[in-house]
Amino acid sequence: MKIPAKLANYINGKLQTPSNKKYFDNPNPSTGKSLCKIPASNEKDVSLAVKAAEKAFPAWSKTSSQERFKILNNIAELILKNLEDLALAESMDSGKPLWLSRSVDIPRAHQNFQFFATAQMQFASESHHMPGEAINYTLRQPIGVVGCISPWNLPLYLFTWKIAPALATGNCVVAKPSEITPCTAYLLGKICIQAGLPAGVLNIIHGMGADAGQAIVVHPKVKAISFTGGTVTGARIASLAAPKFKKLSLELGGKNPNIIFADCDFKKMLKTTVASSFGNNGQICLCGSRIYIEASIYEKFKRAFVKKVKQMKVGDPLAKDSNLGAISSMGHLEKILGHIEIAKEEGAKILYGGKQIKLKGKYKNGAYLEPTVLEGLDPSCRTNQEEIFGPVVTLTPFKNEKQAIALANSTAYGLSATVWTNDLNRAHRLGEELDAGIVWVNCWLKRDLRTPFGGVKNSGVGREGGWEALRFFTEPKNVCISY
Ligand code: NDP
Repeated sequence: MKIPAKLANYINGKLQTPSNKKYFDNPNPSTGKSLCKIPASNEKDVSLAVKAAEKAFPAWSKTSSQERFKILNNIAELILKNLEDLALAESMDSGKPLWLSRSVDIPRAHQNFQFFATAQMQFASESHHMPGEAINYTLRQPIGVVGCISPWNLPLYLFTWKIAPALATGNCVVAKPSEITPCTAYLLGKICIQAGLPAGVLNIIHGMGADAGQAIVVHPKVKAISFTGGTVTGARIASLAAPKFKKLSLELGGKNPNIIFADCDFKKMLKTTVASSFGNNGQICLCGSRIYIEASIYEKFKRAFVKKVKQMKVGDPLAKDSNLGAISSMGHLEKILGHIEIAKEEGAKILYGGKQIKLKGKYKNGAYLEPTVLEGLDPSCRTNQEEIFGPVVTLTPFKNEKQAIALANSTAYGLSATVWTNDLNRAHRLGEELDAGIVWVNCWLKRDLRTPFGGVKNSGVGREGGWEALRFFTEPKNVCISY
């Protein structure tokens, strides 16, 4: 499975050229060279995709759960079979290390299909008895044609996290990956053909968010939108979809706190904090970019953390020993550098990093950045309030638990929080008090696909994962039968 010179849309079971025959370039961020051309699809292509999805819906929604399991599990197995090609495509497209896409992104895309293929077979509905009067039961019916839009940071991982439950519950899907990382979504289309997914059940449209993405959101026949991306885009999508009463699931940005108490297991905390700060170059919505450290261990933490960060190797994503690869695009690198400039103006002391890295040879035009550690900033400054979505963290000391909670909850976001403590009572207290959809205690990024996933405040609306996703993609109907 190789990336072709020109990607194609996957509409009505076939790979198709965009209706306007226009393409734009997709650079490999690790070299700056062109990786492939992407269809510049527009509302015409979306319209074709929605028509195909509508046509496929009656049959797909009536397919037995056993049959749906078979097809979705075929897709899961083919993802696994093509793991190496998919991992390489993901690495070249996003700049992330190959070891990372091979060990995390693609295995998780496989699990997403496998998980929802089986979950839909266990999905039961409710019944409410009114003794002597009536019985109510709840039908959970597929919605119809739904839209799935995903970002560039975990391309196939997040794309399949939406598509799999939507298909598993009998919906037909029109989906758009990010224009920054479209390659594995294209390859998924090819896999669906091989897996025997009926034509029109899944349609994948490539193109710009403002064109192809928005055309999916506003299409009157698209009944629900599942979106993961930035908060500003989420607000735009909500403003377009809400007046049309579409069902909405919005997984948005974060500015997650990582709270470290003096009583924690220091060694374990340090290792995990390096990962939660810089994993995937800090381009995971769950990365902890605000590190709050109990004052008594602040200096010890700072020394040990900076020492570890200095040892991180930034380089060729295909090399086994690169801890960090390229930033996802040159445009995003410039945005992160802009945030570092703001931090300097706000009085940040740079403990490490802060500069673009110029590699040599083939990689000289790649988008590389030093992992960056800042201190000395006011908790209310822009650097500590705005999502940077890059390898940039701030260190701030705190005096006591009350102050730590106040600092952690001081942003407009509420996606995840991490707490390091060996005090069980404190762990429970923080679990209750922190404004976040997920609170990790003494760990980070441990994910059980059955748990609810999502954020509070500006980090989103709704939950994905497990039954939550199956509920989102179905419409509950109460049938009341009188005695
Ligand atoms: P964007 O919001 O820029 O884009 C997300 C997706 O939306 C892309 O496919 C994009 O297309 C598309 N899009 C853009 N504009 C529109 C529009 N007007 N209508 C419909 N679709 C549109 O996010 P990024 O891709 O930059 O991803 C980074 C963001 O995602 C960060 O804020 C991060 O926190 C968040 N995120 C949240 C997660 C969560 O679970 N809460 C998980 C992962 C990331 P295109 O790329 O072509 O513009």
